[in-house]
Amino acid sequence: MFDLTLPDHVTLIAVSKNQSYVKIQAALDAGLRQFGENRVQEAQRHWQDKKSHYTDLVLHLIGPLQSNKTADVVALFDCIHSVDRPKIAKILAHEMHTQNRHLPCFVQINIGNESQKSGIAPAETKAFIAQCRELGLNIVGLMAIPPVDHDAKPYFQQMQQLARDNNLTQLSMGMSDDYEQAIAYGATHVRIGSRLFGARDI
Ligand SMILES: *Cc1c(COP(=O)(O)O)cnc(C)c1O
Repeated sequence: MFDLTLPDHVTLIAVSKNQSYVKIQAALDAGLRQFGENRVQEAQRHWQDKKSHYTDLVLHLIGPLQSNKTADVVALFDCIHSVDRPKIAKILAHEMHTQNRHLPCFVQINIGNESQKSGIAPAETKAFIAQCRELGLNIVGLMAIPPVDHDAKPYFQQMQQLARDNNLTQLSMGMSDDYEQAIAYGATHVRIGSRLFGARDI
């Protein structure tokens, strides 16, 4: 079930949202240690108790950040993929300082310029990264979710260029249906749910 093989330089993030405890345990037993969640409360339920037992766990927040949850986010997660607006960058930076936990962060890019999607407009990337760094955030890369029902390739290609333009070496992109394409365009972190776990249980 967890037999996905990827190039050595690519990190597999197993997206465990909406999965059962049984399947999550099976993933741990299969040796997976990097997991992605998009909701804080569910992530706490899945992982809070496991953190002390599996000391090499790496938890990635891949979903929207709410300002009233940042303290919980900084306490639980090890990496944040969804820094997507100035207000949240400010609150996150403050919280990381308070907890003295300086987590690596990805800036989420609204690569399709979709009005309903969160993320920084591609044209604003450089200025936003500078703003985040001024606040003290450790920006390591860019993340995106390309528009659904479109060929993802041109979006992955734009993300690769955007990362190059900003001297960032890490790219979080690619999901179950398009991770191979994403890797071809330089993804270093793929976020895979259904392809690993089967259909979501809940
Ligand atoms: C759910 C989710 C994934 C995983 O999606 P699959 O299609 O099941 O692989 C990846 N990234 C984000 C941001 C998600 O919310």
